[in-house]
Amino acid sequence: MFKKILVPIDLAHIEKSSLLIDQASKFAEQGDGELVLLNVIPEISGYIAVELPSGLDEMALSHSKSELQALVKKHGLAPSTKIKVKHGTPANEILNVASDEHIDLIMIASHKPGLSDYLLGSVAAKVVRHAHCTVMVLR
Ligand code: ADP
Repeated sequence: MFKKILVPIDLAHIEKSSLLIDQASKFAEQGDGELVLLNVIPEISGYIAVELPSGLDEMALSHSKSELQALVKKHGLAPSTKIKVKHGTPANEILNVASDEHIDLIMIASHKPGLSDYLLGSVAAKVVRHAHCTVMVLR
């Protein structure tokens, strides 16, 4: 079974994440596995970033951490559940964390709610294409 499961969470679409977290948590319980919840804060391009107040990065980081912690509580996840927040390009950071954390399963939603005409969203498609571990796409 899968021992370390990465669940990327798009905090802008938390409603889609609930199903994802519940499924991942069942998988983890069945196989005595550990969950890693990850949110990626998209990088703001240089010329816009210079106009923003300083300290915004830290604020975004602590906001994301507390949102992920709230999800751990809401879903009653095991205390071993890890929380990670990264700045960067979502798909790249998901792939980096998967490799750094020796993840053996990534569970990802297919796309934003309401976009079901598309087979896969852009982040999900890149993760499926480039991951070195198993990827489960939740529809
Ligand atoms: P869409 O193109 O419709 O936005 P995506 O492929 O971007 O679809 O999103 C699918 C899934 O990818 C999300 O449900 C989530 O699991 C993951 N994901 C997207 N953006 C992020 C992000 N910023 N941080 C972590 N995971 C993300």
